[in-house]
Amino acid sequence: MLSPWRSEFYWLIWLLFFGIFLGKLSGMYFAALWLCSLIYLARNIYHINRIVLWLRSGGKVPQGGGIWEEIYYLIFRLKRRNKSRKKRLLAMLERFRTATTALPDATVVLGPRDEIDWFNDAAERLLGLRKSDIGQQIGNLLRQPKFVEFLRGTDASATITIASPIMDKAQLEIRIVPYGENLRLLVAQDVTHIRFMERVRSDFVANVSHELRTPLTVLKGYLETLEDADQDIPERYRKVFRHMEEHTARMQKLIDGLLSLTKLESGTLAPYKLVDCPGLLLSVCNEAQLLKPDQASLELILETHADLYGVESELRSAFSNLVVNALKYTPGDGKVQVRWRRENGGAVLEVEDTGPGIASEHLPRLTERFYRVEPGRAGGGKDGVGLGLAIVKHVLTRHEAELKIVSTVGKGSCFGCRFPEKRVLFDVDDSK
Ligand code: ADP
Repeated sequence: MLSPWRSEFYWLIWLLFFGIFLGKLSGMYFAALWLCSLIYLARNIYHINRIVLWLRSGGKVPQGGGIWEEIYYLIFRLKRRNKSRKKRLLAMLERFRTATTALPDATVVLGPRDEIDWFNDAAERLLGLRKSDIGQQIGNLLRQPKFVEFLRGTDASATITIASPIMDKAQLEIRIVPYGENLRLLVAQDVTHIRFMERVRSDFVANVSHELRTPLTVLKGYLETLEDADQDIPERYRKVFRHMEEHTARMQKLIDGLLSLTKLESGTLAPYKLVDCPGLLLSVCNEAQLLKPDQASLELILETHADLYGVESELRSAFSNLVVNALKYTPGDGKVQVRWRRENGGAVLEVEDTGPGIASEHLPRLTERFYRVEPGRAGGGKDGVGLGLAIVKHVLTRHEAELKIVSTVGKGSCFGCRFPEKRVLFDVDDSK
């Protein structure tokens, strides 16, 4: 078979000879050649028209000679390829839809104005969405203020728990993930059972702690009585009683810590009030200084007089844990600085010490309950129970603040609590 271009070339030569022959017959070479060009033009217009008709209405591949044969074939190949790609994409889309429909979690595709584009069956069951809701803004359908506020946020890792609008007592954990251009995916998971288990666990811890308190108080009372009668006790028992005293004090600390954590976790938020933060820090530092006579020097630096919107008792417990820790872990000749200052519109409390520091592998786990560095660290802090920083973290989360720990082994640590602008009230004198 001839190549398309060669066949087209022969076609042209043939037309040219025909023109010359016609010219020779008629003696009008110019008119004959013009007629041949017209024939060539008409042939091309005819094929272009066939392509348009074919592309528009489909059907069999048209036939043509020369280069047109090749053009028809190439377009046919392109069409065939597109068709199989479309088929594959449709099959994939169908598989994706079947998979998301089978998901137990509600999945809703939100458009640029948070309007509903698509949702799966679980969204009907958990969120009460109906097909007629497509195109409606989700904020108008799930009207809970907490959810509307959350919808405005941009943090993809953030989650909220709300009550299901249609299932009685069901709790839904909602996450919104951005994807594509201006699109967001809302995923709602039924966490009723998980929340129930968490409540059972925290109730159990609270009950056990309460139940342990009474026998412990009795034990402590007896030990104090024995301490008063110290002279009458034989020497070999004195050491035993001192040990018992140490351990009851540790158990008391554990129970107090667990009860504080349970209270913080229970979620019953005390109403926020304006807390005089400089005054609170002064009182925390004064109390901490009374702990031991041989401890590191403590300095309070108030760079701002800003107050905080929060719960005073919770803030006191968090700040006091940080300051007491710094003093507890820093040797007598060391220094502890407590600084309250402005930062990026908000305010930061920094508790910095020249203590032993904490190795970087411990930092991510420090705020876990019962996590302690001591088992692997020589020296002080043996009386710790590992609940202090867990309490700090909880309090800060409830106050929308962030805990940042920077530490270098052998140099010291700095625990920073960053409070956002909305939680801080600056004094008129705070000009900077
Ligand atoms: P603990 O009651 O053991 O002090 P925390 O939760 O307050 O419990 O602290 C957890 C661990 O973090 C401690 O065991 C200690 O090893 C470490 N840590 C806390 N604060 C400091 C600090 N200022 N310097 C060095 N280590 C610290």
